[in-house]
Amino acid sequence: MPETNFAGLISGWFQRNRRELPWRLKDAGRARREPYAVWVAEVMLQQTRAEVVGPYFERFLQRFPDVAALAAAPESEVLRCWAGLGYYRRARMLHAAAQEVVARLGGLLPVTMDAWRELPGIGEYTAAAIAAQAHGEARAAVDGNVKRVAARVLGLEMRADETALHGAARTWAQELMDRAEDPGVMVEALMELGATVCTPRAPRCTECPVAEDCAVRARGNPEALPLPKARTQWVDLRLRGFLARRGEAWLLRERMEGWNPGLWEPPAELARPDERPEESWQRLGLGAARALRPLGEVRHVITRHRIRVEVFSVEDWEGGPQPVISEAVGLTGLARKMLRLQTVVHGAE
Ligand code: SF4
Repeated sequence: MPETNFAGLISGWFQRNRRELPWRLKDAGRARREPYAVWVAEVMLQQTRAEVVGPYFERFLQRFPDVAALAAAPESEVLRCWAGLGYYRRARMLHAAAQEVVARLGGLLPVTMDAWRELPGIGEYTAAAIAAQAHGEARAAVDGNVKRVAARVLGLEMRADETALHGAARTWAQELMDRAEDPGVMVEALMELGATVCTPRAPRCTECPVAEDCAVRARGNPEALPLPKARTQWVDLRLRGFLARRGEAWLLRERMEGWNPGLWEPPAELARPDERPEESWQRLGLGAARALRPLGEVRHVITRHRIRVEVFSVEDWEGGPQPVISEAVGLTGLARKMLRLQTVVHGAE
């Protein structure tokens, strides 16, 4: 760690430049943030940008204002409130952890990083981030933003997904946390610096509080670090999907396995070579139809899967399972894209 007062520079910059995000405004003026709100915000922020999370966070806290309310709600209701944020495992784990807090801890939230880690779905990063903001515990929280800033400031020639970079970034961030006047401010400051100034592309080095001591900036190529991740091995899937409705209700199926279990989507199956759409529909055994009308194609990416769905509208659908009001269940991202296609092509009908 250089002799420069990095901790003071970064936290001073943050206090002058922080974005007014709902979870910050909620606790404005308080010495410590409210643990339940910090927890919800940190889980939502795990794979989603702050600007996207804002309205979801506010709605979620209105519906589930404390851990007891969240624990008492059925999982389907939690998933419905989460719909649109993606990565639904986060919502399931949050719900399970709330139930554990009520059952095992009498409704009292943990007060240390180590105790937070014992709850389902809370890893090292989230536990450290909550403990610093809500309880003032000086433990480094290392996410992609912090790794990127550390790699650049220290000039580390490491890949973004390399374990060694994670370790080096944690050591660097822990020193900053130890030197910080307020660990809660420092943990947010590091994330904010990576999210708004030291961005993956076109970092704004002229606005950066640590530019004078940044190794990669001195070399003149800030985007070069960290080195690119190993390439993803993509799996391409071609599906055929069917939109059938009766009045305001749709033919939807609950996903029981694979990605997004517990969420609902229109039937979509792997397209067999040389099979006509009518044969694919009959094979599903979901009722009779007068005709199938092609609506277009939907593309979706989830984990390592690149999915293309050829979507058909099922005309005069009869028989089959009971249709479902789509607003009453949690939908997958793919389901929302498919249903939007119906509206775009033919209006609300
Ligand atoms: Fe990132 Fe540029 Fe700041 Fe270095 S000077 S930490 S590359 S924004």
